[in-house]
Amino acid sequence: MIKRIEHLGIAVDSIASSLPVFETLLGTSCYKEEIVESEGVRTVFLRVGDSKIELLEATNEQSAIAKFLSKNKGGFHHVAFETDDIDAELIRLEKGGFQLIHKTPKSGADNKRIAFLHPKSTQGLLVELCQEKSS
Ligand code: ZN
Repeated sequence: MIKRIEHLGIAVDSIASSLPVFETLLGTSCYKEEIVESEGVRTVFLRVGDSKIELLEATNEQSAIAKFLSKNKGGFHHVAFETDDIDAELIRLEKGGFQLIHKTPKSGADNKRIAFLHPKSTQGLLVELCQEKSS
């Protein structure tokens, strides 16, 4: 079951210059910074009530974020929905005709198992499913 919007992912050229803007905007400080080597991203998270904003910066040219920023000016990148059973959701969504970027969940930032759906099958919206590793 999909439970809520867990976070929105925002692609940025530089966390160093973008983070203070979002900290001031939201009136809060970043509570977590993490590099996900397998994705070529550096991420920081800010709380927005029960949800989060994730800022993503590329750590290399092959990163999906580097490719995104070469085509877009930056800004909104993906929405992440929290699920209580990511494996079951991937099966349900594939049966429902959605194109999976990750057929099996992988390890993501913020102690999550994650998988992305291809925007071709979601009206152009890049969708991440995530599930807390301990749950
Ligand atoms: Zn994310």
